[in-house]
Amino acid sequence: MDDWILRYQGFDENEEGLREALCTLGNGYFATRGAASESRADGVHYPGTYLAGGYNRLTTGIAGRDVENEDLVNLPNWLRVEFRVPGGDRFRLREVNLLDYQLQLDLKHGILQRSLSFEDEKGRRTRVSHDRLVSMRHKHLAALRTTWEAENWSGQLEVRSFLDGNVTNSGVKRYEKLKGDHLEPLQGFSFSPHCLFLKTRTRQSLIEISMGARHLISSQGRELPNRPEFRKEGGAAGLIYHLELNAGEPVSLEKTVALYTSRDRTISESGLEAREAVQRAPVYKDLASDQELAWTLLWDRFEISFNLQDDQSDHWAGTALRLYIFHLLQTASMHTMDLDVGVPARGWHGEAYRGHVFWDELFIFPLFNLRMPEITRSLLMYRYRRLDTARLAAREAGFSGAMYPWQSGSNGREESQVLHLNPKSGRWIPDNSRLQRHVNLAIAYNVYQYYQFTRDMEFLSFYGAEMFLEVSRFLSSLTTYSPNLDRFEILGVMGPDEYHDRYPQSDQPGLHNNAYTNLMTVWVLRTALEILELLPGDCRRELSAQLSLQQDELDRWRAITRKMRLVFHDQEIISQFEGYGDLQEFDWKGYREKYGDIQRLDRILEAEKDTPNRYKVSKQADVLMLFYLLSAEELKSIFDDLGYDFKYQTIPNNIDYYLKRTAHGSTLSRVVHSWVLARSDRKRSWEQFTRALESDIRDIQGGTTPEGIHLGAMAGTVELIQRCYSGIESRGDVLWFNPRLPDELTELHFDIRFRGHSLAVDITRDALIISSNRCKEIPALIGFGNEHFELEAGNRLEFKIED
Ligand code: BGC
Repeated sequence: MDDWILRYQGFDENEEGLREALCTLGNGYFATRGAASESRADGVHYPGTYLAGGYNRLTTGIAGRDVENEDLVNLPNWLRVEFRVPGGDRFRLREVNLLDYQLQLDLKHGILQRSLSFEDEKGRRTRVSHDRLVSMRHKHLAALRTTWEAENWSGQLEVRSFLDGNVTNSGVKRYEKLKGDHLEPLQGFSFSPHCLFLKTRTRQSLIEISMGARHLISSQGRELPNRPEFRKEGGAAGLIYHLELNAGEPVSLEKTVALYTSRDRTISESGLEAREAVQRAPVYKDLASDQELAWTLLWDRFEISFNLQDDQSDHWAGTALRLYIFHLLQTASMHTMDLDVGVPARGWHGEAYRGHVFWDELFIFPLFNLRMPEITRSLLMYRYRRLDTARLAAREAGFSGAMYPWQSGSNGREESQVLHLNPKSGRWIPDNSRLQRHVNLAIAYNVYQYYQFTRDMEFLSFYGAEMFLEVSRFLSSLTTYSPNLDRFEILGVMGPDEYHDRYPQSDQPGLHNNAYTNLMTVWVLRTALEILELLPGDCRRELSAQLSLQQDELDRWRAITRKMRLVFHDQEIISQFEGYGDLQEFDWKGYREKYGDIQRLDRILEAEKDTPNRYKVSKQADVLMLFYLLSAEELKSIFDDLGYDFKYQTIPNNIDYYLKRTAHGSTLSRVVHSWVLARSDRKRSWEQFTRALESDIRDIQGGTTPEGIHLGAMAGTVELIQRCYSGIESRGDVLWFNPRLPDELTELHFDIRFRGHSLAVDITRDALIISSNRCKEIPALIGFGNEHFELEAGNRLEFKIED
């Protein structure tokens, strides 16, 4: 990796899936994997294109039952450009004598480039170079340009360019038994000598997808006359060109594509729009300069730069973070603001988790809050628009308020699978993950954080507070009172640790008094009462009337904040759930020796007909999430109100205890561990950070990244640098800083937005400098140590850091 370039040298079929995912190009409206343009889905290559929020449902018979799944649909492959040298076969990377090969992703300009040369059996050498973009400036457009140069021969090269609707969802091996033929072909034709049109429709959600493609053949800047033949191959529409190549004279094909769907706004009919847009689209060169400008502007807002100690071999950390920011912005950008979509845990980069939206927002939104909070707002609106579905779900489950689903897709109903396949044992296992009611805590937390960083009272008044109060209501109804204990409890749920879904002897799923759920419920209810105070009077009255919020309900919320139950074992260890302390210790050493990689202990144990439910093993941070989300002061105040003893030493003791018992089967886990260690053990924090950073770039889970990136871990690692090591916190009216750089990090610089202010932050070992970049009439309030200061536009504040 160079600073701004992710580069792969040589073709490696085992790594191709990973490269495709990491080289995906997108713009928040749609995304296309970095697959070779001449490739088809064949077990090595997987050219997938996905529309943000482009879902469809299909039903499959599995293990004797009908299972309905909602998938993110793989759209027609617009990349497909195949070629053959005279008398040769269709070019296939794996079948030729490759002389050189390079693939590189230019993060600064949003361009993917590939160059290669090969020799055929007749000794003819050909060079191929390829550039591609998915436009960040024109959200409906994408383009590629391929150039062929015959190095030592002359003759006719056959090039076939398709809009290929003969595709299915088959990118995830575990899902292969589930139906994946989501698309129905509607139309395919050529509408001018060099233009193609293809229209398909998703079978159940009936989204019409229209693609137009325009081709241009040129040599050294001169357009070459050429009349292609039209070819239809099932659901694919193509043009076949015969290009005269003269040795040493490169010939290029530019293919520009416009994608519209029936879900777009301001359109007449998607097909018409796609055809018109592609005909008037700029040429590749101009699209590339528009792309450069759009990304330059984005990087102005999102760049983060830092220096590492000289002896650090981790010099790739900067590029990795840029790569992760790049993918976050390709998933959710200014083009997403106009759409009704959430942020999918695995990006629009592959089919894992079917493009569903989970609690991972909790790890992703903070990054946007500090850089482009408008994106957070639009993603929160995705939740708001599904509030009625959440209300219905609560009612149907016997609760009040709104119960958001663990996995959310098109209309906000629960999309979690009922069965999942353990690829290790080949068995279909009941999936109880929907019992993770804590997703509601995350949504409420996100609403409040967004408000904290923006003071967007309009959002809070009209949308945020309503969601927050309805979630509070649900959490209150989930809580039961035990007269014996004189405590409130939450029974029958799952915490973030997905390895535990029931008690070992029980045939009912669910666990009692998950500490994370109980304590964060208290946080939500306390905050709900605060939000009611914050709202302008008329708004509070209207909302209270609309929701029929009664005093006795608020009294109950207050009572829960005083009497929620927490369970402890070994004195001050906060039990992950009631009974955790009685579980068996796990033979970590033995299993590591036997299996090597034990991140997915759930699958290993199930294959052995055992279950993690019997052991003190966690997939990911659960209790420790509390220290990730809440400050020690907040925790102490909650514990005090609940009448539990809280010593600051509780935090490192619990971290130590759970860190030893966590398998990191989720990429979110190390982010949290690194975060919670940042204050007490900077060395270990940095170790966990670098490991978290490797999650996608090195695919440390062994095969998950090719199926889709891990956006939570990507954002989480950026946030570790940006918010954790700088100690940024928004409390009251003040933006607080408390920098503590790990030894490996010597300097840090980034720009943030805070309530309309634009601030440049510089941190070194011994100084913190905050400069105000943009004029705003009222000064920003900046806190450091125990004091806060006013920062006027154009001024700066400097603080000395004592270690
Ligand atoms: C994790 C969840 C996460 C999901 C999607 C799972 O493996 O356990 O916490 O929400 O992946 O990223």
